[in-house]
Amino acid sequence: MKKRLVILLIAILVALSVEGVVLYRIYHVNEKEQKKTSTEIKNNEETTEQILEETTEEEPTTEEETTAEPETQAPETQAPAQQGENPNIDPTKPMIALTFDDGPSAKTTPILLDALEQYDAHATFFCVGQNIDGNEDIVRRAYQGGNEIANHTMTHVQLTKVDPATLENEIIGTENKIKAITNQQVVTIRPPYGSVNDEVMQYIHTPVILWSLDTLDWKTRNVQSNIESVQQNVSDGDIILMHDIHPESVEAAVQLIPWLQQQGYQLVTISELGYYRRGGLTEGPRYGYLPPN
Ligand SMILES: [Zn+2]
Repeated sequence: MKKRLVILLIAILVALSVEGVVLYRIYHVNEKEQKKTSTEIKNNEETTEQILEETTEEEPTTEEETTAEPETQAPETQAPAQQGENPNIDPTKPMIALTFDDGPSAKTTPILLDALEQYDAHATFFCVGQNIDGNEDIVRRAYQGGNEIANHTMTHVQLTKVDPATLENEIIGTENKIKAITNQQVVTIRPPYGSVNDEVMQYIHTPVILWSLDTLDWKTRNVQSNIESVQQNVSDGDIILMHDIHPESVEAAVQLIPWLQQQGYQLVTISELGYYRRGGLTEGPRYGYLPPN
């Protein structure tokens, strides 16, 4: 019996110790796993923190980039657009340049500007320097309305008939008067009577603009005659010659502006016409008709 008891006791002890080992193992494995899990969580937290840190680090970088962007873009934005470039113009559609010489006139030019503004149309004003005096506000208004202010000499002399000193003053004088108002270089000139020769061309450093449709408005001084002259002859790429110092010419233009637009013509400045038809105006050529290529 004693022997049986001893064996039973041993068996109990063995069983207990095995259970202990198992329990120990279970405990320790759990502990390890817990440790492992918590380490993983910690690691995850660290990763999350790292991500957060990186994110917060990134944010200012992004902000810096955002603030840096206008700086890098600024020169492009501030750089003057190509002379005559205008996003409102459709290069595929017909366009003509209305040009008005010999002004400005306090009596008639503002009436023309009213019409141009009303129809969102633009023209080129070949100004005589001596007529700018006292009419600076008109020139400023024309320029700010998107029109081109160009050179038609100081006193409307025939450039081929004056001495070199006069020639230079006639050209430079008007350029300076216009620049004082617009703060921009004058980019085109129309010599009075379209009169130039090789000697005159040596003193001219801007593109020379002539015309392709002469209304002879100065001669007829008749509203209907001016209107018909344009309506019967106009075509895509024309440079139309009129004078904003004559009331009949301005009255004709006031009627022609909406009529031309109804025919599908965009009314653009001479530099705009030059840009979209020839890639820009250059010194040397004398520009008249500028049809599509
Ligand atoms: Zn003239």
